[in-house]
Amino acid sequence: MAIATVNPTTGLTERSFTAHTPEEVETRLVTASRAFETLHATTFAQRAEWMIATAELLESEVEMIARILTIEMGKTLASARAEALKCAKNMRFYAANAEGFLADEVLDDPSSVGASSARAIYQPLGIVLAVMPWNYPLWQVIRFAAPALMAGNIGLLKHASNVPQTALYLDTLFTRGGFPEGAFSTLLIGSAEVKTVIEDRRVVAVTLTGSEPAGRSVASIAGGSIKKAVLELGGSDPFIVMPSADVPAAVALAVTSRTGNNGQSCIAAKRFIVHSDVYDEFRELFVSRMAALRVGDPMDPDTEVGPVSTEGGRRDLAALVDDALGKGATALVGGAMPPGPGWFYPPTIIEGITREMRLYLEETFGPVASLYRVADAAEALAIANGTDFGLSSNVWTTDEGERAYFTRELQAGAVFVNDMTISYPELPFGGIKVSGYGRELAAAGIREFCNLKTIWEG
Ligand code: NAP
Repeated sequence: MAIATVNPTTGLTERSFTAHTPEEVETRLVTASRAFETLHATTFAQRAEWMIATAELLESEVEMIARILTIEMGKTLASARAEALKCAKNMRFYAANAEGFLADEVLDDPSSVGASSARAIYQPLGIVLAVMPWNYPLWQVIRFAAPALMAGNIGLLKHASNVPQTALYLDTLFTRGGFPEGAFSTLLIGSAEVKTVIEDRRVVAVTLTGSEPAGRSVASIAGGSIKKAVLELGGSDPFIVMPSADVPAAVALAVTSRTGNNGQSCIAAKRFIVHSDVYDEFRELFVSRMAALRVGDPMDPDTEVGPVSTEGGRRDLAALVDDALGKGATALVGGAMPPGPGWFYPPTIIEGITREMRLYLEETFGPVASLYRVADAAEALAIANGTDFGLSSNVWTTDEGERAYFTRELQAGAVFVNDMTISYPELPFGGIKVSGYGRELAAAGIREFCNLKTIWEG
């Protein structure tokens, strides 16, 4: 895949970039290694000072970077601004909390192990390769980088090939904030070069956010070198609506969740599973809200849904819808690729999905909602757990018994009750099943790339 900015609103290539040569990659690895020698010996207070300075820099450059995000992957300018500000918030959170998350774990009674003192300490591992996607081109990277750098690790970014300008912005951001040169840098390389970098002795671990095939490849290469891997992969999150739900509130967030970021979020609700007692009410409101969304140029402040980010992404999305329609499903709204420039796809709701249709099992990465009618909680759960994904999940109910049932039984890395899923700096994030393994954020996330070293002293 060429490393280039191709504007999804027009379909035109705006800028192309030359990939780093093996010599340039080597130079960056050497600089990264030197940076680790410096960074791992600094204090939390020093790193926090640099992290806050980096957050301030990002906040002062929101307009500039937001425009780059919109041009490169088509999200609305308002959502691009919000993404940049969320990244700054994440940096401040880890500047304030990393030391607490990585505090020594002291054994209260060291005599029980025959020691005068015993404790476990968290130490950084070294250079971590971050293979990242284009859908939240800043947030996915900063979600990894802020905790990693605060722990004393080094980040080496291989960003998606369609967001090179964002990748180059990130290349210098942390150094401009005061971090040592090489503490965080970008490799402009294609996915075929990832294997060599993972296998390099100086790289100790890898984190990948992206698709299932990329996850399989990266995890097997890391496994071959016995290196730690964290995988944040796809999702097809269920959104269950039970009779006690506030249906208008559920519909409002169903629309936001499914169409935010032009429908390209791993934790978007994608399958809407609605109890028959409230199905007609939900369906009518959902259809009218989806049909009313303003689709258009993401630079226009009135636009609510922009284009799908890549030509191939729109083709894949349309193929899933066409497969379902060809096998007897119905499009209640949308369902056909519009003519004209850019990679637009209309907000769509598909009803009448059966197991034979690809939509039943596969992820839709665009503004396409699957709508299911169910008779009871057990049927809702069976459909919800019926895919190989297990990222997040949503359930709308005020019934205590149903809350307990769904929060216990849903096979997912998270359950959001009476809300849509959001990735918060304060909460662990990650999936199960083919949605990946390991966690980002919070104590669990920052500890993923640390050596928990046991210290026994006689
Ligand atoms: P993708 O093709 O897997 O690309 C993601 C990154 O992996 C890019 O940097 C890509 O580089 C690289 N890559 C692709 N194939 C690779 C391989 N075989 N070896 C090494 N690196 C490889 O993902 P996408 O389809 O663009 O992104 C959408 C997917 O990401 C969806 O499934 C979505 O749900 C998932 N996602 C998950 C999360 C989460 O937190 N769980 C968040 C966001 C997105 P190139 O661009 O150079 O190919």
